[in-house]
Amino acid sequence: MGSPVGQKKGSNMDELRYQVDLLSAMNQRLTNDERMYRLLCNTSSNAFLYVNFVDNVVRTLGSWDFFFPEVVIRDMKDLAKLYSQVEDKYVLPLRDLIYLEKKEMNSDSGIVRLKDERTWVECETEILYDETGKATDKVIRFKDISKFKNQNEELTYMAYYDVLTGLYNRNYFVRLLADFVRKASDANDIVAVMFVDIDDFRKINDGFGIVVGDEIVQQFGQLMADFQGENILVSHFNADIYCIAIYDPGGNHTVEHVYKKIREKIKDPFQLSNGQELGISVSVGVAEYPEAARTTLELINCAEIVMFKAKGQGKNTIKYFDAPILNEFLQNVSIETKLKGAVFDQNFIMNFQPQYYADTQKLRGMEALIRWRDNDGKMISPSVFIPIAEKNGAIVPIGTWVIEESIKTFVKWKKQFQHEVVLSINISAIQYMRDEFVESIVNIIHKYDVDPKELELEITESVLMENFKEVTEKLYVLREYGIRISLDDFGTGYSSLSYIKGLPIDTLKIDKSFIDTIITDENTRIITESIIYMVKKLGFETIAEGVETQEQFSYLKEIGCDCIQGFLLGKPMPAEEMEELLRIQIG
Ligand code: C2E
Ligand code: CA
Ligand code: CA
Repeated sequence: MGSPVGQKKGSNMDELRYQVDLLSAMNQRLTNDERMYRLLCNTSSNAFLYVNFVDNVVRTLGSWDFFFPEVVIRDMKDLAKLYSQVEDKYVLPLRDLIYLEKKEMNSDSGIVRLKDERTWVECETEILYDETGKATDKVIRFKDISKFKNQNEELTYMAYYDVLTGLYNRNYFVRLLADFVRKASDANDIVAVMFVDIDDFRKINDGFGIVVGDEIVQQFGQLMADFQGENILVSHFNADIYCIAIYDPGGNHTVEHVYKKIREKIKDPFQLSNGQELGISVSVGVAEYPEAARTTLELINCAEIVMFKAKGQGKNTIKYFDAPILNEFLQNVSIETKLKGAVFDQNFIMNFQPQYYADTQKLRGMEALIRWRDNDGKMISPSVFIPIAEKNGAIVPIGTWVIEESIKTFVKWKKQFQHEVVLSINISAIQYMRDEFVESIVNIIHKYDVDPKELELEITESVLMENFKEVTEKLYVLREYGIRISLDDFGTGYSSLSYIKGLPIDTLKIDKSFIDTIITDENTRIITESIIYMVKKLGFETIAEGVETQEQFSYLKEIGCDCIQGFLLGKPMPAEEMEELLRIQIG
């Protein structure tokens, strides 16, 4: 047994050894922990800044070099080097994040941008407090969020701007215009909206391809961007539509001035990247607050309606809002709504107007003309509803009905009277453009067993010229079946005699506008006479439309016009009356 001292000594030694072992075990654990934390930090794509306020210690960990390659931080003073890396306006927020103690908050965050102008960094802090509530330790984590942030910026850009042209997009324009209108309402000012539409854009797209179309949209957009200013907003709505708003138009910022500038800018053709050159024209509709409308959207709508009016008047022009334009439009809208029902209910009937040979005054044929009695019993003229039906597509079912109904009636009469007259049917551009058009006509000929020689399809001059290639190809095929083709409203469109020479047509209908003044106007007489002379030489038959007086009739007969159609010899009439007329004249 050892002495108590020795014993004591021994136990002291043990205690010491124990303490040392404990310490070294703890140390080992700390080292291991530190290694683990360091590894963890280093594998992270984030950078960390550790700050110990008690001992004034700072350390950097993780991907520090990725964010701040040249910034070595050893003590608190070095933090200035860190601030020098971020954009000026983010220095204070970052300092606050590092130093500020927000009581009862264990974490905080903020976003800063580095001076490279590219890198966006999210800073998140974790804080430890002592028992008195004082912050002792803080870790700031730096996370690269540039990708997200830049994407976000792109999204923000796309929310306000149109990517193709860089102009305001429609939504943002509407918002800014609403501000204009509010301001103008307070200050009793005017806001003008110009609705600008590239003419014949569909043809550019169809004829040259959408890449060229896009290039035109872009180049024109760039020209339009020049107008952008404090009191002028320029936007690209979509496709070929642009909208300009002018606050308190005056001085150099009048609508007239902007329009003049636009025209100057597009005077020269655009140079396309494929080396081609392409010229454009635009139609512009103008509506002003408060005259035309009191709300933003109504104002834009009005300008659009006026723009359509400008298109209707031959394009390449500007038109200003006036009340009749709006009334006409509203009436058309109600017709359009009714038209949908009418197609469904088939509220249509066919009328027939006789055509006579000028010399013998025998019946040459009849033109089928549609009539529409709407549900209130009101007659609506085809010159009003046919253009609307052409726009909304209703012309397709209506046109099919016209062809079938008039041929059915015509064939019934043929069986009854064995007549040899011609049935003329008006065919709209939309119908001619449809792929199955020729086939559908051929099918109907077979179905009703009609002699193709007795069937004449009318096409207006302007339709033919606008879709020249496609339509003439179809006309040739139809004529091979023996169907006659008649050029309607001659003289109102391109009226060049030289081009009709090669066209697949049999008959030429001289427009009523010539007949109207043929007696009173020397020039009209000269033109009509030479038309008839030339047309007959080319081998076409001529029909004068809208002949109302005996005087007109006699004169037309004298200058060699083949056939006469008009109120003088017979108005358009319902089938029963036409049947009666056939019975008297042929039966
Ligand atoms: P359009 O093809 O030029 O038809 C001739 C128009 O002149 C008809 O008007 C006819 O009633 C009118 N008219 C004939 N003789 C005289 C006259 O002596 N004096 C006057 N003042 N007018 C006369 P309507 O029937 O109102 O048709 C107008 C237009 O509507 C037609 O002009 C044609 O473009 C279109 N249309 C009529 N029916 C159809 C149809 O079934 N299909 C298509 N696609 N269009 C049609
Ligand atoms: Ca006609
Ligand atoms: Ca006509």
